[in-house]
Amino acid sequence: MDPQAILNQEVVSLKGIGGQTVGRLEKLKIRQVRDLIFHLPLRYEDRTRVQAINELIPGSTALICARIVSSTILNRGKRTLVCQISDETGYLSLRFFHFSAKQFNSLSSGTLISCFGEIKDGYSGYEMIHPEYKIIQQLDDCITSDTLTAIYPLTEGLRQASIKKAVQQALTLYNNNPDSLPDLLPSAVLSKFQYPELNQALNTLHTPAPGVSVNALVNSPNPALKRLAFEEFIAHQLSQLKSKSLDKHWQAPELKCTQKQRQQFLNSLSFNLTNAQQRVIEEIKSDCASNSPMLRLIQGDVGSGKTVVSAYAALLALSSNHQVAIMAPTELLAEQHLRNFSLWFKEFDTNIIFLTGQLKGKKRQQALIDIADGSAGIIIGTHALFQDAVIFARLGLIIIDEQHRFGVNQRMALRDKGQYKNSKPHQLIMTATPIPRTLAMLNYADLDISIIDELPPGRIPVITRAISSERRNEVVAKINNWSQQGRQTYWVCTLIEESEVLQCEAAEKTASLLVELLPSVRIGLVHGRMKATDKDQVMQAFKQHQLDLLVATTVIEVGVDVPNAGLMVIENPERLGLSQLHQLRGRVGRGSDDSFCLLMYQSPLSKTAGERLNILRETSDGFIIAEKDLELRGPGEMMGTRQTGQMQFKIADLERDTDLLDQAAEAVKIIQQCCPENIQPLIERWLGTSTKYAEV
Ligand code: ADP
Ligand code: MG
Repeated sequence: MDPQAILNQEVVSLKGIGGQTVGRLEKLKIRQVRDLIFHLPLRYEDRTRVQAINELIPGSTALICARIVSSTILNRGKRTLVCQISDETGYLSLRFFHFSAKQFNSLSSGTLISCFGEIKDGYSGYEMIHPEYKIIQQLDDCITSDTLTAIYPLTEGLRQASIKKAVQQALTLYNNNPDSLPDLLPSAVLSKFQYPELNQALNTLHTPAPGVSVNALVNSPNPALKRLAFEEFIAHQLSQLKSKSLDKHWQAPELKCTQKQRQQFLNSLSFNLTNAQQRVIEEIKSDCASNSPMLRLIQGDVGSGKTVVSAYAALLALSSNHQVAIMAPTELLAEQHLRNFSLWFKEFDTNIIFLTGQLKGKKRQQALIDIADGSAGIIIGTHALFQDAVIFARLGLIIIDEQHRFGVNQRMALRDKGQYKNSKPHQLIMTATPIPRTLAMLNYADLDISIIDELPPGRIPVITRAISSERRNEVVAKINNWSQQGRQTYWVCTLIEESEVLQCEAAEKTASLLVELLPSVRIGLVHGRMKATDKDQVMQAFKQHQLDLLVATTVIEVGVDVPNAGLMVIENPERLGLSQLHQLRGRVGRGSDDSFCLLMYQSPLSKTAGERLNILRETSDGFIIAEKDLELRGPGEMMGTRQTGQMQFKIADLERDTDLLDQAAEAVKIIQQCCPENIQPLIERWLGTSTKYAEV
C-alpha cells in the first residue's frame, strides 16, 4: 500500500469516530486523517506543576493544591457555593453556581483539594469559577500529567476528549509510518533556517515533551510552529509562481501602434510624460507586443499620473483593433476616466461606452449591443462590467484601477470574459496603495510590478498640520480667507461607525453648519448615498469653480482631480488608516501653489494616534507611509477585508509570521533548484487541489 494512503483515509476509519462526529469534524474542514495532524492545539494547559497561590497571574490557568478553610452558601442574588482555600502562600476562592448537597458536604473545611482552572481577579481577591477539582488525601497527589495538555479548537457539539482521541490516533498512525507524511522541505532548507523536521515539529506541538513550558510553545518564536507557518508560506508562494508559469501557456493578442498613432496620442496630452511614466510605458509596450498575456501592476503614489500610462496601453489595444475595458471602484472615478479618455482619444474616432449599475433600460441595451458587436472600442465602468450580460466582441486589454478595492476573484471574472479559445486579454492593474514588498510577495507573486516613483513636475508638497477640533473656529476663518483668494477647499467627514448612513448624516450636518458659519462661501455636499447624477453635478460644479467648499465623505478618496482645490480639512483623522489619509491628502497639491492639509483631531489624542498623525506630517512618500501603516495596524486592516478574506492560512498568521515571508522566498529558490518534485505535493498539502484563486 502507498504509505501516504494511510493518512488519506477518511476520519470515520478511526476508533470512536461515528457519523455525528464526522459531521462536526467536517465543519472544521477535517475530513481525512491527515487533516487531524494539521489541526494544531489552540493553547496548552499546564497540569505538570503545582503553582503557589501567591505566584498566580489572573487570566492564566493553573493547577493548585490547597486546604479548604471555609465553605459557605451565599443566598444573595444567585445561590452560590464559595469555598475559601489556602496553601502556605495565600488564599483563593472557588465559586460554584451549580452544586449538589453532596458536593457541598464533600467540600467541607479541612479537606485537601487539587483544582485546575482560570484565575480571575474577583472582588475579594483571586478566584476560580467552576474549577475542575479532585479531593485528595495528600498534598503530593496533585499532579495529573507529566506533559502539557493540548487544547484543540472545537466546533459545536464536539468534545475536547473526542478530538484529542482522534488526533492521538492520527499521530500514532503517522509516527508508525513516517513515510505517510514525508517532509517536503529539503534538509538544505531546514539547516539553513534551523527549523526542526516535520515529524518533530508536529509531535512537539501535539504532545509537548515533559519539561516544555507553555511559554516556550505559545509566546516567543517557537521553532515547531514557525516551521509549519514557514512551510505554508512556501506553498503559497510556489502556487502563485506556478499559476504565473501556467499563464505563459496562454496566448494573448499582440498589441502595437504605429509611430503616427503614438504621436497623435502624445499630442492630445496637455503635458509631457515624466521619465517614470515613459519607463513604465516601455515596460507595458514590450509586454503587449509579446503574445503571452501581460499581468502587470502599476504602483504609483496618488497624483503620479497612472491614468495616462494606462491610456497608452489602451492606445496599443485600439490601434490593434481590440477592445479595452476599464474598471474603476466608484462611479465618480469611472466618470473621471471617461472624461480623460474622451479627451485623449478625441482624434481617434473611437466609440467610448460608459457602463455602470446606474445605466438602465434602452441605454443599457444599446451599450451591451455595442460592446458585443465590437462597435465599442473603450468600455469604462464599475463592477457592472463583469455582469453576465456583458459580452465583449474582442477584448484585448483590461485596465483595473485602484486594485485594492477589488478582490482577486473579481479581476479573474473580468478576465474570463476576454477568453477566446487559448487566448486571454492583457491585464493592467493600478494602485495608489503601495503594497509593502513582503505582502506583494505573497499576494501578488503572480504579477509583474512597475513603479511610478516620480510626480509630475511643479508639484509642491502638501503642508500637513494636526490641529485640535477645539480650534475649529480658526479653521473656519482660514477657509473664509482662502475662498476670498479664489481657491477651493475640501472638508472631509470620516466614518463615525461602520455605517454609511451615519457618515452621510454627519456630512449633511457639517455642511449645514458651515453654510451658517460661512455665508459668503459657496458650499456643496457629496456623499455615498446620493444619486450618481446628483453627485456628478456637484463634482462638476466644484471642478468648474461654481463652488468654493466641498463637504464630502470619504467617497472622494480615489482619483478626483481639481487642481485649484489646495486646502483640505479632514475631521477625525484618527479614525482612518494612514494610507487612506495619504490618499485623501493626494486630492490637494495638484496645482502649482502652496497647499494644506489640516488634520482636525478630537482631543485628547492617544499617544499612538499622535505618532501616526506625525508620520503624515513628516513624509509624503506613500511607500514609507504604507510600511508604517503595516507596522502600526497589521496587514489585515491594511489590505482591506476583501483581500485578507482571500488569504486564508491554516497555520500561518500574517501578523505574527511576517518575518517568515523573506525566508520563504529564499527557500522557494532552493526548492526549485534541488527538489522541484516537491513543489506540487507542497501546494497540494497546503492549498488543496482546487486552488481557484491561484489560477488567475
Ligand atoms: P493617479 O496616479 O493618482 O491616478 P492621475 O492619473 O489622476 O493620478 O493624474 C493626476 C493628475 O496629473 C491628472 O490631472 C493628470 O492629468 C496629471 N498628469 C499626469 N501626468 C502628468 C505629467 N507628466 N505632467 C503633468 N501632469 C500630469
Ligand atoms: Mg488614479
